[in-house]
Amino acid sequence: MSEPTIKSVRVLTVMGNFEWPIVKVELSNGLIGYGECHRGPGIREILRRAEELIKGKEVNIEYLLRLIRKHVPNSEWGVVNNAISGLETALWDVKGKLTGLPIYELLGGKVRDRVPVYADLHAGAGIMETGGKRWVELAGTEVAYNVENYIKRAREAMGMGFKYIKFDVDVPEEMMETEFDRAFGMRIVKFVTSFIGGVRDAVKYDVDIMIDGHWAFSVPTAIAIARELAKYDVFWFEDPVPPENIDAMREVRLKSPVPIATGEKLYRLSQFRELIEKEAADIIHPDVQRLGGLLEMKKIAYLAEEYYVPVAIHNISSPIGTMANVHVASTIGDFVAIEWHAIDLPWWPDMVREGMIIKDGYITPQKKPGLGVELNERVAIEHAKDQGEVKEFLG
Ligand code: MG
Repeated sequence: MSEPTIKSVRVLTVMGNFEWPIVKVELSNGLIGYGECHRGPGIREILRRAEELIKGKEVNIEYLLRLIRKHVPNSEWGVVNNAISGLETALWDVKGKLTGLPIYELLGGKVRDRVPVYADLHAGAGIMETGGKRWVELAGTEVAYNVENYIKRAREAMGMGFKYIKFDVDVPEEMMETEFDRAFGMRIVKFVTSFIGGVRDAVKYDVDIMIDGHWAFSVPTAIAIARELAKYDVFWFEDPVPPENIDAMREVRLKSPVPIATGEKLYRLSQFRELIEKEAADIIHPDVQRLGGLLEMKKIAYLAEEYYVPVAIHNISSPIGTMANVHVASTIGDFVAIEWHAIDLPWWPDMVREGMIIKDGYITPQKKPGLGVELNERVAIEHAKDQGEVKEFLG
C-alpha cells in the first residue's frame, strides 16, 4: 500500500487578541493536521507557494522543509519562516496521527512531563491588538498605570497557580515627545519601574516576576532601568534594546545587574547563533511560530545548551501554537517557561475541543497522536478575519 500524500495546505486567520493564522494540512487518506503561524503580511501567499511544492508528496518533514526553503524566495529569514513554522507544526501533527505518536516522541522524547507557563499581565491592563488599539487606549492610562491594578492582576494569576508573571515597563506615550523616543532620564525610569516595586512589596517572593521592555530603550536608559529592576529581584528584563544590533544587546547584558532575555524577533538558528555565541543574552526567548518551526527550535536549544543558556518560549498563539510549543519544550533540557498572553481572552480555551489546557500554571502534553489537541473549527470560524478564507479552509 502506498503512503498517503499531501492533498492540500490551507490557512484561516483567526482574530484572537492577536491574529492567529491557523494552518491545516490534509492528506490523501483524509487525515488532517493543524499548526499555527506568528502573524505577518503575506502568509497566505507564501503557504500557497509551499503547497505547490509539497502537494502529492509524502510527509517527510526534513525533505519538505528543505524543498520549501530552497524554492520559496527570501526563506532565509523573515516572514516566510512564520508561514513555514505553522506549516511544519501541521506536518508534525499529521505525522503523529499517521504513526500514532505524540510530537514530543517524534522529536526525540520528553525530559519533563509538564511544562511551566508564565502569565503575561502587560502593564496592569489587557491587550487586544486585533481591535486596532493599543492597551493604553483600551484601558485608559490611569487604569493601566495604577499599582493597585498591577497587584490585583498579579494576585489573579497567582490564584490560577502561575509561579511566574510578567509585566511591561512601556513608557506612556503621554510622557514621550514622539512615540519613537528611546532615551529617558530618571524621572521616567523611576515612574515605569515603581509599579514593579509595588507588586514585589505585595506578593513578596511567592512568585517570580519577569519584565518586558519591548525594544523601547537606548543602551544607557536600558541599563538605568535594569538597575532599578534589580531592587525588586526580577527574574529577567526582556528586550531592553532593539533586536538587530546584537553588540548593543551584549553591552546591556554585561552592565545589567538582572538577567537579560531576548530572541522573539529572531529567525532561524543562523540569527540565534550570533546571539548565543556573543553571549548577549542570559536566557533566550524564541518564538517557535515565527523562527522556522519545531526542528529549528531544537537546533537552537542544542546550541544554547553548549553555552549553558536556558530557553524560555515567547508565545502569543492560540492553544494550537501553544501546544506545539509545549511539545518541543518538553524535549528541552534547560527550560524555564512558555508565555501565555490570553488571561483577558475568555474564549482562548475554546479554540480546541479539549478546553483549557493550562492547569495550575502548567501544560501537560498528552500521550495522544500529534499535537494531542484538536482545533474547534466552529470557534475558529466564528472569529475568522475573512469569510472568503473560511470557505477555502473548510474545502
Ligand atoms: Mg516580549
